[in-house]
Amino acid sequence: MKVLFVRNINYVPDGADEAVAIDTIQKATGLTVEVETIDVVLPTIYKSFDATSLVKGLWGLDGIKQQLRDTQQIPQDYYHMVVFFYKSSRTDVAYWTYPNDLNGSAFIEFPTRDEWKGSVKLGMCHEFLHACHRLCAFQGIVTLDDMDRYDGNLDPMNGSNYQRNIGVLQPYFQRIDTPLENWKKPGYIKRFLVQLLTKTVSVYKTLAIMQQQELLWDNPANVRHSCRVIMDEYNLSWAEKDLLCACIEQESRFKVGAIGSLNADGTRDYGLCQFNNGVNKETGEPFWIGKGADFASIDEVLADPSKNVRILVREYKKGNLKWWASYSTGAYKQFLPK
Ligand SMILES: [Zn+2]
Repeated sequence: MKVLFVRNINYVPDGADEAVAIDTIQKATGLTVEVETIDVVLPTIYKSFDATSLVKGLWGLDGIKQQLRDTQQIPQDYYHMVVFFYKSSRTDVAYWTYPNDLNGSAFIEFPTRDEWKGSVKLGMCHEFLHACHRLCAFQGIVTLDDMDRYDGNLDPMNGSNYQRNIGVLQPYFQRIDTPLENWKKPGYIKRFLVQLLTKTVSVYKTLAIMQQQELLWDNPANVRHSCRVIMDEYNLSWAEKDLLCACIEQESRFKVGAIGSLNADGTRDYGLCQFNNGVNKETGEPFWIGKGADFASIDEVLADPSKNVRILVREYKKGNLKWWASYSTGAYKQFLPK
């Protein structure tokens, strides 16, 4: 797969982060990604998406594809993807993958900010899969792009929206990973527009990922809020959020580094949602923490409160809330809103 990174003048490349992104993508998809890089000097002119998006207040670049064509540095039907990196002082821009091509390539607009350091890996992995869906569309293959259903999005290797979309794309990776010049493109724009009309919201929801990175976990009030923001991704009702928050409050008092006292069986519970470090007595497999379990280590449980919440929600949806003593004993009730 041929990818072109176009770096605008004020973008400060974080080579390590970009390399990690490509490495992660290759491991997750099995594709070989060859990256070329060019530097350009282009004005960034902003445009509001309000007219085309149901999500208000987001901005992107106006006319950037034409500006790039005018540089005559992007040959027709050569790169599978073109990524335009630019630095932005705005907080209301999002990285996103355009519905239609740039000289045959899927096109990703990628704003960066100093405060978003580390976002290149997350954003590139995310947009790469959007771009693979676009490449399919360019060949007339309609695949369901639901990358923006954020269940576990934050882990590019194991997040469930990555797994789901890689699964959908897998049969077509080989087909889209052929030289673009050989492609026949049957009316893809028309097909894709139909797709886009039904998915306008999701294209622009990308900003939500960045906002997720800014969740605060520093005091109980912020932790409670962050829990509810994550639960909103799973479309939980107000009452369900109250229930799960009451359980979390009973478990850890909203302390992300909470370490429980020793249980009768010698195990201990850790973190915001108090995951137990015990193992299944018959099989020796860890319940939550250890090889093959949700968390690799106790450190991870303590360091990743978002994951705590996501797993709690997952188990709640499977009907397993009874595994938490806060729920099974009814102790959570004292923390329900009066
Ligand atoms: Zn997205």
